Amino acid sequence: LAETDFPALDRARSTLRDVFGFDRFRGRQTDVLRRILDGQSTLAVMPTGAGKSLTYQLPAIMLEGTCVVISPLIALMHDQLRSAQANGIRAATLTSADADWRETMDAFRAGQLDLLYVAPERASQPQFADFLTASPVALFAIDEAHCVSEWGHDFRPDYRQMQHLMDQFPDVPRLALTATADERTRRDILGQLGIPKEGLVLAGFDRPNIQYTIHHRDNPVRQVTAIMEEISGPGIVYAPTRRKVEDLAEKLAAATGRTVLPYHAGLPVEERAANQAAFVASEDIVIVATIAFGMGIDKPDVRFVAHAGIPKSIEAYYQETGRAGRDGDPAKAMLFWGAGDFAQARQRLSELPEERRNDERARLDMLAALVETPKCRRAVLLRHFGESPPDGCGNCDNCLNPPDVTNVTETARKLLSAVYRTGQSFGFGHLQKVLTGSRDDRIAQKGHDSLSVYGIVEPEEAQLLQPLSRAMQARGALVATEHGGLALAGDAKAILKGQQEVEIVIPPKRSRRSGRGGST
Ligand code: ADP
Ligand code: ZN
Repeated sequence: LAETDFPALDRARSTLRDVFGFDRFRGRQTDVLRRILDGQSTLAVMPTGAGKSLTYQLPAIMLEGTCVVISPLIALMHDQLRSAQANGIRAATLTSADADWRETMDAFRAGQLDLLYVAPERASQPQFADFLTASPVALFAIDEAHCVSEWGHDFRPDYRQMQHLMDQFPDVPRLALTATADERTRRDILGQLGIPKEGLVLAGFDRPNIQYTIHHRDNPVRQVTAIMEEISGPGIVYAPTRRKVEDLAEKLAAATGRTVLPYHAGLPVEERAANQAAFVASEDIVIVATIAFGMGIDKPDVRFVAHAGIPKSIEAYYQETGRAGRDGDPAKAMLFWGAGDFAQARQRLSELPEERRNDERARLDMLAALVETPKCRRAVLLRHFGESPPDGCGNCDNCLNPPDVTNVTETARKLLSAVYRTGQSFGFGHLQKVLTGSRDDRIAQKGHDSLSVYGIVEPEEAQLLQPLSRAMQARGALVATEHGGLALAGDAKAILKGQQEVEIVIPPKRSRRSGRGGST
């Protein structure tokens, strides 16, 4: 790319060398800098460690005036301050924890600051805007910008107030930065902060050394045991509840003879800390944990992350699997999902306040699409984060072992009408018996042998019922009832009326066998 047509970028490169001691820009830092040095507001979405700070620190040095950085965590700000000052940048913080605020304010007024870090609760006060008029402001940098969005996972009302502040300085460009923002959150941030659509710079989410595999869960102990027998390095197994954590840890230790430690919020603090420390120091320990585990843990050589149940969202999945292979060596991420995970998660939607229900449903739909896709998993993940990846990655289960896709529209209509005709209160086992014409006593007792759907599924077709039911639950055409039955929901009506085709993925035999961990 012709970068010399933009002289400011050449100057930026010398500053990079002279002040920061780096030879070249990384990833899309250049794209962000080009816009910021040209006075254009920008949203930079890049993963942690990509080097986002540099994209405002460098303009702070180069541009006339002070760069005001809004950041939500005081501890984080003080870290940033130290590293900026270590590079010789004139920086200060204005937070409730700073005693030297008078000096800081004087330095700003005198135009002696490159960077001024401010907490949002202070920046949103009306006096702060008055204060800022005392000296030129070169740039507003909004760190952890997903906090302005209610759709983001860490909404902070203070962040909303920032708008009023920045609106009083319409000529000062804004640089919003975040590591976690899906499409909706990004749109929100752009709108909230008045950044144009083309101001989005986003990249670097791929973790090419992680191999993704997603398989339905038939026996989690056997499935995770198979991984542990193949991979001797440290690993994390995520389980949905405390009880499942303890149970799985015990059984995996017994099955493999390896050290397997539990981690969840219900354990005594000392035990939790000891297990975490042992894991971080080890080269072979496996930790079974609830999602409480992993935040802020820096262990580069985790060789696998397994999920024994579905994560909360694609973003949570990306974040949790992202703990594998930080050293860049090959690592595996395996998700074992159950139809019940989705059915229950969808049932719980009804307990949510109305305004959150649609959002959460959308998150589940996106997760279901990842789980059900016959195509490249990485491509689905990266597209979710707004990237434009190639169609195949060569390092996920679907690329390595392409599954068959089968049109099962007719069978789906049979299954859904069996659900309907039996009163939407029976589980899969019962429905399967009705559809295949089982002579089970219970079927006769309920009078289900006289229904029009009794025995309408042929033996060969019957093999499709289980994967089909899973798929229907994943996409929400079937949801769980309180008593463990299945009820129609979502697209079920459209499918029944023949308005919608249904295709499902039939996992290839080989991966199914290895997923079971057996050698039969
Ligand atoms: P983020 O805020 O995106 O999580 P940081 O700004 O903390 O990331 O940067 C992560 C690390 O990368 C820091 O140690 C930083 O000095 C370093 N870094 C940033 N840009 C470059 C570069 N162009 N070349 C080499 N190292 C860089
Ligand atoms: Zn792939």
